[in-house]
Amino acid sequence: MTEHPPVTPEVVAIPRPVAGEAANLVGKTRDQLHDMLIQAGTPERQARMRVGQIWQWIYHKGVRDFALMTNLAKDYRAMLAERFTIELPEVVTRQVSQDGTRKYLMRIAGGHEVETVYIPEEDRGTLCISSQVGCTLTCSFCHTGTQKLVRNLTPAEIVGQIMVARDDLGEWPELGRAPKNETRLLSNIVLMGMGEPLYNFDAVRDAMKIAMDGEGISLSRRRITLSTSGVVPEIAKTAEEIGCLLAVSFHATTDEVRDRLVPINRKWNIATLLDALRAYPKLSNSERITFEYVMLDGVNDSDEDARRLVQLIKGIPAKINLIPFNEWPGAPYRRSPQARIRAFADIIYKAGYASPIRTPRGEDIMAACGQLKSATERGRKSRKEIAGEAGLG
Ligand code: SF4
Repeated sequence: MTEHPPVTPEVVAIPRPVAGEAANLVGKTRDQLHDMLIQAGTPERQARMRVGQIWQWIYHKGVRDFALMTNLAKDYRAMLAERFTIELPEVVTRQVSQDGTRKYLMRIAGGHEVETVYIPEEDRGTLCISSQVGCTLTCSFCHTGTQKLVRNLTPAEIVGQIMVARDDLGEWPELGRAPKNETRLLSNIVLMGMGEPLYNFDAVRDAMKIAMDGEGISLSRRRITLSTSGVVPEIAKTAEEIGCLLAVSFHATTDEVRDRLVPINRKWNIATLLDALRAYPKLSNSERITFEYVMLDGVNDSDEDARRLVQLIKGIPAKINLIPFNEWPGAPYRRSPQARIRAFADIIYKAGYASPIRTPRGEDIMAACGQLKSATERGRKSRKEIAGEAGLG
């Protein structure tokens, strides 16, 4: 049985700030920011107020230059500019699909790269963000899963993806102008990009708290969905410490098949995972858990699978997202035929569950679900390795 320890020794450590090097304020919690300002000489009695002012400049107004923070004294701004920076990941490439989907390849510290995808829709704009370079896990239908874990992202690199996308969408208020009362272009966040967010819990928590903070980016917790492949010990903490919506990469209705598709199932199988979901502290009809189910031809798409799925999740307020498989080079699977997907959805719908079929977006730029992979990798998994771990070799 392949064990999947959270982080292995050969993984690159998260870069530590070099002494004397200006520290990046992005990604710091309010308390961390408070301590940094005091260390920089801010009087204790002023520190809370300064945190609030700087927070609004960075996360509400999108300002990157301390000199523009006009409600702070000139010499204080000079001190900030000397000691700190406001840094975001660098955009290496920006691709726009014919359907409007945008994919960003971003470079982070150490020259590593991650992918982030923006999906515009009628009533919302969703940003799919990454939490690791590569992934701790090796789900056999996922392109990222062929890329070994390089390292966890820092809170700055996670929230930075949101800020970079807002830059690109021009979604920061114009300085000195009344805020635009327009529908937000970036209204939803899904942690469904590269990586298993629950294997980078603390950084994801801090970044999402920054994104939800009402004085800054101010995204509602109900517009943030964290997707996990089933890291059972961390699931309840997601409700308690982040409070966002939860999605689960479910994808199979028997342990035999899920072991092959989502290998972490060998550590916490379907029964254990469902117990954790039934105990999810924020479970309710208004905050249903999303079961993600990739449709793989002849693997997990039978009528029997559909019937078994609704049996398994009985009693859990849920919706099931059916994801037509998005092929990638070397993938060991094919997408289920459309008629098969519709028949599957029909069985679930008749059992009383919403079963939307996800429309693949950004396929022409390899931005669709499960297609993300960055050039940065420490070790490519061969097709033989992928098939072997999927029990297909
Ligand atoms: S589906 Fe998610 S957890 Fe699984 S390999 Fe892909 S990125 Fe990692």
